[in-house]
Amino acid sequence: MPWLNGAWASLQKRFDENRLPHALLVNGERGVGKRLFADALASLLICDQPEKGGGILARPCGRCKQCELVAAGTHPDIRVYTPEKSRMIKIDQIRALSSFAVASPQVGHRKIAIVDRADQLNINSANALLKTLEEPSADVVLILLQESGRPVLPTIRSRCQSMLIPTPGEDDAARWLTSRVMELEEDSRPAAAECVKALAMAANAPRLALEYLNSDFLAQRDQALECFRQFMKGQMTVGEAAKPFKTLGLDAALWLFERWAADLARLGAGGHALDSDAADMLGYLARNNPPWRAHQLLDQIHEARSAAVYNVNPELEAGRLLIAWQGLMPVKRRVPA
Ligand SMILES: [Zn+2]
Repeated sequence: MPWLNGAWASLQKRFDENRLPHALLVNGERGVGKRLFADALASLLICDQPEKGGGILARPCGRCKQCELVAAGTHPDIRVYTPEKSRMIKIDQIRALSSFAVASPQVGHRKIAIVDRADQLNINSANALLKTLEEPSADVVLILLQESGRPVLPTIRSRCQSMLIPTPGEDDAARWLTSRVMELEEDSRPAAAECVKALAMAANAPRLALEYLNSDFLAQRDQALECFRQFMKGQMTVGEAAKPFKTLGLDAALWLFERWAADLARLGAGGHALDSDAADMLGYLARNNPPWRAHQLLDQIHEARSAAVYNVNPELEAGRLLIAWQGLMPVKRRVPA
């Protein structure tokens, strides 16, 4: 993942100068490789004899006891805290992290805790994490991951060093995706056109594009767009139209609505839609509505996302947003007889 090299090199410099922070906040778009970056950093930090790789960048030796445990996925001094079914990181998980942070390392010379993702902490978890961040043990490194556009409490942010994982350009992203696809058995490899579409849908975030190819996302999304279109034309009930969005799950459904609303705002400002499949419909809506309507929709989607942490019903939420979209369709005035 060559687009990670810049971030890696800057971290390496801090590491060499002994300025490595005890807490790092890694920010980047969804599916851009934040977790891979965090895992790679954890492997490097835990290795007993990291090697300078071909020039500037260090890498774990791959031979020491630590590296063996990492390779087996069983290193007791690396812990990952990730949202559970509730899609939030719960206070019990952060309490476990706090105990881990103050305990002595079991086999390594330090401990690494990865919080994937720090933008999914509820208020109690965030406050509990804050205590650990405020009184860090010398032998623990916390790596917090944050998806772009999702807020992390300022009190948490201010106690971390931030670093950004950039989104790769189209060529780098396509090259990485192609190499992953080539690792698959020949008969299960997606067609090149599918890869191009997945990358476009993922806005060049390569991990996300791979996730799309490994799931039914692209077909489900086509179905959701088709139902959206029919609903807007009054050819489908809201209940029917909301179904494919339910299949996608709330997170993906909100993300689709958000992309379409952002495209609507772009078109309203004279730009182009990123989702070319929806461009004709969105162009029509942009010509028939003032630009603020797109931003109103975006606000509604963001509200739905904030509410999503409280387990709202995805079908109802999709229905509510579909109705908000339908409000943008021009009303044909009836001519009195
Ligand atoms: Zn090693």
